[in-house]
Amino acid sequence: MNKYTEKKKRNQVFQNFIKRHIGENQMELVRECNTFLSFVTDKTLEKKKLYKANPCKNRFCPVCSWRKARKDALGLSLMMQYVKQHKQKEFIFLTLTTPNVKVNYLEDEIKNYNKSFKKMFERKKVRMISKGYVRKLEITYNKKDDTYNPHFHVLIAVNKSYFKDTKVYIKQKEWLDLWRDVTNMPEITQVYIQKIRQNDNKELYEMAKYSGKDSDYLVNQKVFDAFYKSLKGKQVLVYSGLFKEARKKLKNGELDYLREIDLTEYIYQIFYIWNKKEYLASELHDLSEQEKREINKRMISEIEEE
Ligand SMILES: [Zn+2]
Repeated sequence: MNKYTEKKKRNQVFQNFIKRHIGENQMELVRECNTFLSFVTDKTLEKKKLYKANPCKNRFCPVCSWRKARKDALGLSLMMQYVKQHKQKEFIFLTLTTPNVKVNYLEDEIKNYNKSFKKMFERKKVRMISKGYVRKLEITYNKKDDTYNPHFHVLIAVNKSYFKDTKVYIKQKEWLDLWRDVTNMPEITQVYIQKIRQNDNKELYEMAKYSGKDSDYLVNQKVFDAFYKSLKGKQVLVYSGLFKEARKKLKNGELDYLREIDLTEYIYQIFYIWNKKEYLASELHDLSEQEKREINKRMISEIEEE
């Protein structure tokens, strides 16, 4: 429950900052967010799973964005399995960044990123190797000098032969040159590029987690407003090529065959009610036979965080 308590406390900080941006009805949902949780558990009480809750679903809410990231990470892992197995691809993970900017330049900088990225993926060298990608926009905040760093995390599907084919393989130095070139910023000193190992939850979670860390954007109202303004209404995850196709399949359930079944036998239910700064637990309740049928042997819907 520690993680829930920590996130719900942050939701309370978030309430102060979001207030000026939304109406009273939405505000009510944010205040009530996850004040009621129901978990199901097995007979050892060691394995617990969230069964019911009352989320506000605001994309900046610390509780809701954390929950969503875990679901998205699983979705991403399923899409990767599909692309790997059915299209015989491997993956590389690319991080593109530019020097930090002050708040007034943040929105323009994000526009520049989109343009530069488009240019980069139109270059013949990149076009030849990329069979599709998932791109995520992320912003970090640097408290020390009050600057923002938008950056892209990109997961790229490549042919299996890519790593051995010296004619098409793009070295780290070449990625850097390409990025400098399309951004017109020779002062950029690094790009991060790496082959993805099988089932690396850390990188998946990195890709799927929300575009800003709540520890960054809940610093103060001014910083929150900057994040809010520059991310609101923006498409945070962009899918192309094979990933676009895989996402369609994920959405309509065609990748469900890849999902694991949760074999835990849940028999009890526990309720938690939020009381100002902590969750109060109810006693254990036996699940009815009907509930057991509903809950047990279901597909796993999220991955565990690191
Ligand atoms: Zn919420």
